[in-house]
Amino acid sequence: MQQLKSYSCGEWVAGEGGGLTLCSAIDGSAVAEISSKGLDFRAMVEYARSVGGPALRLLTFHQRAMTLKELALVLMQHKEEFYRLSRATGATRNDSWIDIEGGIGTLFAYSSKCRREMPNGHLYIDGEPELLSRNGTFMGQHVYTPLQGVAVHINAFNFPCWGMLEKLAPTFIAGVPSIVKPASQTAYLTELMVRRIIESGILPEGSLQLICGSVGDLLDHMTCQDAVTFTGSATTGLRLRRHPVMMRNSVRFTMEADSLNASILGPDALPGTPEFDLYIEEVTREMTVKCGQKCTAIRRAIVPRAIAGDVIEALRRRLGKVIIGDPGREGVTMGALASKDQCDEVRQRIAEIARSSEIVYDGADDPGLPQDLSDQGAFMAPVLLYCDRPLKSRDVHDVEAFGPVCTVAPYDDTAQAIAIAKLGQGSLVSSVFTYDDAFARAMVLGIGAWHGRLLIGNRDCASESTGHGSPLPALIHGGPGRAGGGQEMGGVRGVLHYMQCTALQGSPTTLSNVTGKWMRGAQRLEREVHPFRKTIDELEIGDSIVTGRRKVSLEDIEHFAEFSGDRFYAHMDEAAAKANPFFEGRVAHGYFIVSAAAGLFVDPAPGPVLANYGLENLRFLTPLNPGDEIQVQFTCKQITPRETEDYGEVRWDTQVMNQHGELVAAYDVLTLVAKG
Ligand code: NAP
Repeated sequence: MQQLKSYSCGEWVAGEGGGLTLCSAIDGSAVAEISSKGLDFRAMVEYARSVGGPALRLLTFHQRAMTLKELALVLMQHKEEFYRLSRATGATRNDSWIDIEGGIGTLFAYSSKCRREMPNGHLYIDGEPELLSRNGTFMGQHVYTPLQGVAVHINAFNFPCWGMLEKLAPTFIAGVPSIVKPASQTAYLTELMVRRIIESGILPEGSLQLICGSVGDLLDHMTCQDAVTFTGSATTGLRLRRHPVMMRNSVRFTMEADSLNASILGPDALPGTPEFDLYIEEVTREMTVKCGQKCTAIRRAIVPRAIAGDVIEALRRRLGKVIIGDPGREGVTMGALASKDQCDEVRQRIAEIARSSEIVYDGADDPGLPQDLSDQGAFMAPVLLYCDRPLKSRDVHDVEAFGPVCTVAPYDDTAQAIAIAKLGQGSLVSSVFTYDDAFARAMVLGIGAWHGRLLIGNRDCASESTGHGSPLPALIHGGPGRAGGGQEMGGVRGVLHYMQCTALQGSPTTLSNVTGKWMRGAQRLEREVHPFRKTIDELEIGDSIVTGRRKVSLEDIEHFAEFSGDRFYAHMDEAAAKANPFFEGRVAHGYFIVSAAAGLFVDPAPGPVLANYGLENLRFLTPLNPGDEIQVQFTCKQITPRETEDYGEVRWDTQVMNQHGELVAAYDVLTLVAKG
C-alpha cells in the first residue's frame, strides 16, 4: 500500500512505522497509510526560515505573481490525475471541480490581482503619506514588509486542494514560505498535488514543505515572525489558540471553524416568484454539493412562517431528485461523505438537532430517491428538519451536522428573522433571497456584524451569481465568533496577513527613496533631458520638470465651451457665476485646465512614452479666472515595470499652480513607458 510521504527540508520522507490507514469514501478500500513519526519539525521550520524565506524575499511581488501563474498552468496540465484520485474522497466531478480547479483558479486570481494592485517591488505602501510637521520636512508612511518566519497552514479534510492553495497563494505573494499540513483523511490528494508542484521545480526551494500526519512539536518552534492558520473544528482550533508558545510569542493565528450559516427567504419571495425558486435550488445545492461537507453550506433556512410549509414541500420534491452514488457513475449528483466515521458522526448530530426539531424529510426513507450505494461507502441521503420555535431552541443554532443536513426555521417579521440569524453566534456567510431591497438593507444592517460575507440573491443576478457557498479570492473568507474570528483571502488584504505593517517616519526625500514612491516635499531632480525622453529603465522617481506659463483668457474659456459643448453657467454667465458661493466670476473649466496642463508638460515627439491611460485622484482646488496663469510641476512618482512586457507603468505627480503659487489642480497622470 502507498505510504504517504512528507516533503521536509528538500526531501520526501516517509514517517516511521506503519501509520494510520486511509480508506476510500466510495468502497472502503485502503488508499494509503499516513504517518509523520520521526520528522524533525524544528529542522523544517529552520529550513523554511533560512532557505525558503530569503529566496522568496529576493523576488519582487510581480515576480512571485508570475511564478504562481506558471505553477497554476502546470497544475492544470495534471488536473485529470487529481480528479481521478479525488473520487476516493467521495467527491463528484462537480465537487472536485470546486476543490481542484477552484484551488488552481485562486493561484491565477492572486497572480493577476497582485500584478494589478501591488507594486513591482519589495515593500507594500499602505495609504497616503501623513504630514507630521508644519513645514513638511517630517512625514509618516505605513508600509508592509514580509514576515521573516514561516506560515504553517493546518487544513480540514473537505478541501484537500483548495484548502492548501487558497492559503498558499497570498502567503507566497507576501514572500513567506509555507509548511502545509492537510487533514489526514484526504491527505493523499494534497500529497499528489504537492508532488507535482515540487517536480515542476517552479517554486524556490524551501518555499513549500508538506507534513503528512500529525504536526508533532511544530508549534513549539513558532515565533512572532511566524503565522499559523487553521481550518477545522472549533475544539481543535481552541486547543491551538491556547498553545503556550503561541500565546507567549504572540504568534499570528487565523482560525476558520465551523459555522451555522443561514439563508433567509424574504417575505416578498412567495411561491411562484423567481426568488422562491432560486431559494429552493440554492438550499438544495448547498445540502448536496460535497455531500454537505462544506464550511459555508446552508445549515439554517430561515423562512416566513406563512410559507414554511411550501418551502418544505418544494425542498422535499427537489431533494427527491438527487442521485446518490459512486461519483464515477453516469448521472450521479451527490457523492459520499469523506469517511464512514463521518456517517456516524453526522447521524449523531442530527439526533441532537432533532431534540428540538422534527425530521420532515429523510432521503433514506424516500422510496423514490434513486440510490446506488455500496455498503462499504460513506454514503448518506439528505435530511431536512423543521424547528417550529427557533428563538426558543438552541440545538438548531449550536449543533453543526457536517453533512447533507439543513433545518427550516420560520420567522414572523423582519426583527425575528434578524434575531434568529444572529443566534448562529457568528458565521462565515449568509444569504438573503429577496427582490425587496429595503428588506435586504434591513438584513445587512441587522446581521452584517455577525458575518464575513452576505450574498443577496434575486432574479437580476441569478444567472451570473457565484452562489451562497463559494468563497472567492477577491472577497474575504472568514467570520466572527463561532466561525473562528479569522479572515482569509479578500485580494491584497489576504497577502497583508503575512506581512508586518510598520509606520515609517522621516523626511520626504528619505521616505521616497526608501519606499520607491515619490512624495510631495521630497527632492525633485530637474535635469536637461525631458523625462518623456527617458525609458522606464532610465527614469528615476523624482525626475521632474517645471513648465513655462500659460495665461488663460476669456476666449480660451469660450472656445473650450464651444468645442466641448460644456456651457455650464459658471464658465459662461458672469452674474450667475458671481452668485455661486465658490466663484468671484466666470471660471475656466476644470477639464480645460487639465488639457492645457498637458499642453505644457507633454514632450510631443515619438519616444519611450507610449500612451496616457488615465488620471487618478484629480482635484480642482483653486478657481481659475480669465487672466490667470497656469504652470505645471510634473514629477515621476512611481515606476512599475511589467514582468512580461517590454513596457511598464509610470505614475506622474502633477501639480498645476497659478501665478500666485496656489495649487489650482492636483492629480496623478498614468502612462505606459517603454523599457530601454
Ligand atoms: P479537525 O479535527 O479540527 O481537524 C482539522 C485539522 O486540524 C486537521 O488537519 C487535523 O489533522 C488538524 N489537527 C487536529 N488536531 C490537531 C492538533 N492537536 N494539533 C494540530 N493540528 C491538529 O476538524 P475536522 O473535523 O477534520 O474538520 C471539520 C470541521 O472543519 C467542520 O466543523 C467544518 O465546519 C470545519 N471547516 C471549516 C472551514 C472554514 O473555512 N471555516 C472549512 C472547512 C471545514 P488530522 O486530520 O491529522 O487530525
